[in-house]
Amino acid sequence: MELRFFGAAGGTTGSCHWIRSGEIAVLLDCGLFQGRRAEAQNRNARFGFPPAKIRSVVLSHAHVDHSGKLPLLVRQGFDGRIHATPATRDLCELLLQDCVQVMRRDAGYLHRHAERRPPQRASGGGAEVAASPHLEPLYDEDDVRETMRRFSEHAYGEWFEAAPGIRCAFHDAGHILGSAWVEAEIQEPQGPRRLVFTGDYGRFHQPILRDPEPLTPADVVISESTYGDRLHPHYEELEQELAGALRRLAERGRGRLLIPAFAVGRSQQMLYAMHRIFTRGLAPKVQVVLDSPLAAAATRITLEHPECLDEEALVELRRLHADPRLRAFVHFTESVDESKALNDDPRPLVIVAGSGMLESGRILHHLIHHLGSPLTEILIVGFQAGNTLGRRLLEGARTVNILGKSYSVAARLTPMLGYSGHADRDGLLRALAPLAERARAVFLVHGENDQRAPLALELAKSGFHRVEQPEDAHSPQTYTL
Ligand SMILES: [Zn+2]
Repeated sequence: MELRFFGAAGGTTGSCHWIRSGEIAVLLDCGLFQGRRAEAQNRNARFGFPPAKIRSVVLSHAHVDHSGKLPLLVRQGFDGRIHATPATRDLCELLLQDCVQVMRRDAGYLHRHAERRPPQRASGGGAEVAASPHLEPLYDEDDVRETMRRFSEHAYGEWFEAAPGIRCAFHDAGHILGSAWVEAEIQEPQGPRRLVFTGDYGRFHQPILRDPEPLTPADVVISESTYGDRLHPHYEELEQELAGALRRLAERGRGRLLIPAFAVGRSQQMLYAMHRIFTRGLAPKVQVVLDSPLAAAATRITLEHPECLDEEALVELRRLHADPRLRAFVHFTESVDESKALNDDPRPLVIVAGSGMLESGRILHHLIHHLGSPLTEILIVGFQAGNTLGRRLLEGARTVNILGKSYSVAARLTPMLGYSGHADRDGLLRALAPLAERARAVFLVHGENDQRAPLALELAKSGFHRVEQPEDAHSPQTYTL
């Protein structure tokens, strides 16, 4: 068996892991790079292998850093099936269509920006435009439609043939709706080999979702390492912090509590947490606005997949259905005009909007209007990759660039990164340690180097003989096992 890592190797985006057994190659995930624009565009425009040679894709979950290059793979000649859970398929349809819109908006913006800027003055942000040959969207709606036709759905625990000689099963990873870790059995000349890919591995006691299923012993392990050097606070502590921010907004009596959140997962968690806070009287009720059609659609998909929800969430959902007054705390905006009208709303408002790393979406317009006001508080409730606006704010930038203009920051910034849907260091160690005895190698992916290096040390201490940290490269190293 050969492994190559075409993304999320020393970083957390662009997950794309290539497995070859004999002449058969399959991919685990096929995600978009995110971060610095010119670099992301370069990495996203091509693959380091011929897409037509890939037999199938086994998709761990719908986040676009794992799924967002699938339509490009199809467009460039991939002719196989895409295996996923039913909820992952539904979320992918939503998210990939959204990718087309985001790329089209970005391309339009860059074209306008490039036209306005005389070429001799292109520097800084302009140099990104001038240096980037890829202003066009990577794919369009037709590519997404064709991609959706390639999906094969599999329930958790069901074995399926991903390619001749490669059988796989999905198990609940408890990370987002439909997320899975992958158990694979690969027929090699020496006999069958087991491989486990954690995908993005979730947390125990995470609200809404069921707990991650324990990993099974394997010869080869590919593990995420996003929080390999960090421990998360308990959810109760986070709920108290969130209640504190809600109380501060109510006391100010005006201003905004802005919560940039991924449409899938974090948005639903935030609504769920605020519902719990208000119904338990932990903070005065303030109006919450979900200003994201994408998150609203993801919320509807969540409700269509009770097989992914935990017992408590099912009980709360039944209560919400039985008593419509409980739902009044949150308003879902529909149109852009309605979103813009929020700027002049004098009430204190909580606004939940995407994108989660503040790179695009309606949250940017709320930031433009409210970043300069001390009446604004921004809760950072998700992981912020390097070179994103969210990371710059987290690092204390006093002025930031949004859509080509500079804005000063007077808003209060409150990091609440414990809301992550990823296992922390101890969670990963607990999940992986039982695999040490059998594993010939564990490969750490989906983590920045300062997170995965300490995890690698801990894994070596807990008995793993060989811990690899594959490097990000256009032509990555081939590991033969
Ligand atoms: Zn994810």
